[in-house]
Amino acid sequence: MGNQVAIRTHTDRGDELLCEVESHVYKWELGGIAQHSGVQARTVAGDDRGVISPEQVTEGYVAASGHRPGTTLLCLESTHNSKGGTAIAPADLAAAAERAHEHDLAVHLDGARLFNAATALGIDASELVDPVDTVMFCLSKGLGAPIGSMIAGPSEFIEAAERTRKLFGGGMRQAGMIAAPGLEALANRDRLSKDHENAQQLADGLAGVGELTVHDPETNIVLVDTPMPAAEFLDALEAEGVRAAEFGTHQVRFCTHWDVDGADVKTAVAAAEQVIDRLAAA
Ligand SMILES: *Cc1c(COP(=O)(O)O)cnc(C)c1O
Repeated sequence: MGNQVAIRTHTDRGDELLCEVESHVYKWELGGIAQHSGVQARTVAGDDRGVISPEQVTEGYVAASGHRPGTTLLCLESTHNSKGGTAIAPADLAAAAERAHEHDLAVHLDGARLFNAATALGIDASELVDPVDTVMFCLSKGLGAPIGSMIAGPSEFIEAAERTRKLFGGGMRQAGMIAAPGLEALANRDRLSKDHENAQQLADGLAGVGELTVHDPETNIVLVDTPMPAAEFLDALEAEGVRAAEFGTHQVRFCTHWDVDGADVKTAVAAAEQVIDRLAAA
């Protein structure tokens, strides 16, 4: 909802926005760009980490004319979820954002896992958002709050976004009770490095399980390619008490977060070993 509110606030009906083809705003939000904002998305395929180059921004940019809608917004994402939690660096964000600004586009960063990116890069989150106009980040996800996503940006933008939020059904009265765990999550954000260590442990453990191909994690997401259909692997794994998400016909995504510790990682690796042994024998 945070991304969708930001997009609606940045754009007018009939605009075009530019984003990476695997980006969350385009791929995982129910076509909300079209549904909520009446905006058309144009996608470019970033590199294998989800980085969009300045050249691609220019290639994808459409000037308004008698026949073309006109691009008004560039959406970036860091960490990039679908590419396996890649921590896109400020320089890469800045290169695309600067080019977008040259074309008079606004730039929104989907920073659902902004603090994971900052932690992995060893920088302050403010460095990541420096090149962009607005950012959304989640207090849930790895940070561990039960609910809540934030939009940050210039005060006039936030005033307008508050009206959009109300329109989208997100006006709340006693919001303090859900803000409190959000503050707790933010105060404990240094803990995210532990999630990244756990993800690396998980990746190392799963890499030792025959037949699985493990992508080396940059943050708290571990992508794994499975020889059998992902759904089959996941069903068997869930029966052992371990849940992961289907990310492709033969790919699954594991996430580490506040509620997963080193012992859980060992349990997950042991479960994967059992499942693979059993499925391979069948
Ligand atoms: C989780 C996530 C969101 C928010 O998704 P919801 O399921 O709608 O809360 C946005 N962007 C990225 C990159 C995400 O991973």
